Amino acid sequence: MDPHASPHPPATAAPRTRLSIRNKLLAMVLLPLVGVLPLLGAFLLWWGDEGIDRLLLTKVRSDLAVAQGYFERVLGEVGASTGTVAESHALNRALVEPGAMADLTPLLARLARRERLDFIHLHAPDGTLLATESGTAPAAAKAPPGRLAERTGVEVLPPAELALLPAALRQRVPVPLVPTRSAAPTASTVESRAMVLRATRAVRGADGQLLGHLSGGVLLNRNLALIDHINEIVYPEGSLPFSQWGSRGTVTLFLDDVRISTNVRLFGGETQDRAIGTRVSQTVRDAVLGRGHTWLDRAFVVDEWYVSGYQPLVDSAGRRIGMLYVGILEQPFTQLKYVALASISALFIAVMVVAAFVSLRWARAIFRPLEQMEATMQQVEGGAMDARVGAVASGDEIGRLARHLDRLLGVVDEHTRELRRWNAELDAKVAQRTLALEERTRALEEAQQQLVRSEKLATVGQLTASIAHEVNNPIAVIQGNLDLMRELLGPQGQACVASEFKLVDEQIERMRLVVTQLLQFARPTEYAGYVEALDPTRALDEGLVLVDHLLARTGIQVQRDGQATRSVAINRQELQQVLVNLLVNALHAMGQGGTLRLSTRDAGADGVEIAVADTGPGLAPETLARLFQPFFTAKKGGTGLGLWISRGIVERYGGDIVAANREGGGAVFTVRLKTGAA
Ligand code: ADP
Repeated sequence: MDPHASPHPPATAAPRTRLSIRNKLLAMVLLPLVGVLPLLGAFLLWWGDEGIDRLLLTKVRSDLAVAQGYFERVLGEVGASTGTVAESHALNRALVEPGAMADLTPLLARLARRERLDFIHLHAPDGTLLATESGTAPAAAKAPPGRLAERTGVEVLPPAELALLPAALRQRVPVPLVPTRSAAPTASTVESRAMVLRATRAVRGADGQLLGHLSGGVLLNRNLALIDHINEIVYPEGSLPFSQWGSRGTVTLFLDDVRISTNVRLFGGETQDRAIGTRVSQTVRDAVLGRGHTWLDRAFVVDEWYVSGYQPLVDSAGRRIGMLYVGILEQPFTQLKYVALASISALFIAVMVVAAFVSLRWARAIFRPLEQMEATMQQVEGGAMDARVGAVASGDEIGRLARHLDRLLGVVDEHTRELRRWNAELDAKVAQRTLALEERTRALEEAQQQLVRSEKLATVGQLTASIAHEVNNPIAVIQGNLDLMRELLGPQGQACVASEFKLVDEQIERMRLVVTQLLQFARPTEYAGYVEALDPTRALDEGLVLVDHLLARTGIQVQRDGQATRSVAINRQELQQVLVNLLVNALHAMGQGGTLRLSTRDAGADGVEIAVADTGPGLAPETLARLFQPFFTAKKGGTGLGLWISRGIVERYGGDIVAANREGGGAVFTVRLKTGAA
């Protein structure tokens, strides 16, 4: 395995997409809206469209029923009017009374006006035409059998009867065909037939005999008054919604497929021209006239779309001769749909915008704590351990997370501080132990040196002891022989060599002194008793007493400064020997006058210093260098062993003696000793 390979992927690997959570949330909110709202809009439109269509068709169906009802009422009125004329007394009398026949035409004209009939034809019981209201009566005109049976209905006038109509009425009949889109193809250019509402009644005398047949009717071709009236009844003012968008109702009477009477205007109702002569589409024609269905659907009428209802008009023989039509202009409702579509779209966009705005604001509020947390963690990473998210307004999971992070950071900070504290304590302990170890090592080294020195001293002691011993015997022999020579020479002889004897005595004495001192050093146990705790100041005073006889002969001043509070552990005689040696040296150095300064003080952790200072000549550098060597002396009669032995004694107790020159002149010898229990 590669030792450098990390088991974890690198933490800095950049995410593939940089879409922030806020944008993701926004997408989450808006995507359903984008997906669902258009669907909802489309459904609403479809549903509204369907609903409006159904509603309109239902309305047209009922409008058609109303129109049909009114049409039948008019037909009934035609029947009733014709009946009234047939039963009128005047007509009866005119038919019964001889000679009154000549007055028939004016009578019929009057009755027709009164009963609002367009025409009245009077036939004899045998069918011969007797009179018409307009006076147009061809002599040979005779109705075919069965034509005069009593009935009321809509019918197409046969050409013979058409000819009976007055000229003014006949003028209304021919309808020039207007070429119409999607109408059934035709070769003819004019519809010259007349469609009428007609009733036929028998005219009977008082005794019930048949006097004749009366037929009265109303011409439907270009009967604008009738069609406008039907329109007013079916579509009274304000009955249609969206009149501000031009909604309007239309009514038409068709003869076959040709509009013979209508309120449909040509070219979008801009002109007063009615669409008379235009034709219905082939589809409607086939359905209504061909198959006898009632047509309820949108249909293209003249030049606009209408929600239409067509119903066949059937004559008394059962033939479908024409159609009754009602319709509502579709355009305002289409406009309504467009307005609805635009409104829904606008609403949709508004909802999207508001949703985006609200969700953005909300997302910002939700993610502010997250951003604060990220900033805080970056600060902490940068070393600001006391950085915190702080107060967060939201109490939701993210808010709790932020507070949790703060607590966590607090705990981590606390632990870090504790670790640092431990670390510092550990460092201090290590330093302490190291110091202690160093001290011990030093003590060990000292002890080691002490041991070596002691061993050396012991060896030197043994050596000097044996030498001293070896020297003592020859001295005794020399001394004995010298005494013998004195006896042999007698007083005179002695006088001759007195100075030689004196020299020999002195040298023998000196040898004795050296040997004595060497033996003192070599066999300390002979002199030293036990080690005790001594007051250094007192020991110094006692030493001074011992050299008192030397001091007495001089004018030397003594100053004492005993400050030591500790005691020293040493044998009394040995300390005394050391101090006396130093005192004697000082007195020797000063001669007849000066100041001897004696002081003690506590030194270091466990030491005492005893200083003997004089105002003598001080120590020359070469003296200082050799001061503690054995047999170094600058004194007449000195052995040069005093300082060497003193240092040996003090070192045996772990102490030391140092010599130095004083600033104002003179020398100072300082004895350093370890303290002992008081
Ligand atoms: P000794 O006294 O027998 O000479 P020491 O060892 O006591 O032997 O002294 C060695 C020498 O050190 C002395 O001879 C003297 O020259 C010198 N010395 C000692 N003490 C003093 C002092 N206080 N002032 C000046 N010289 C001194």
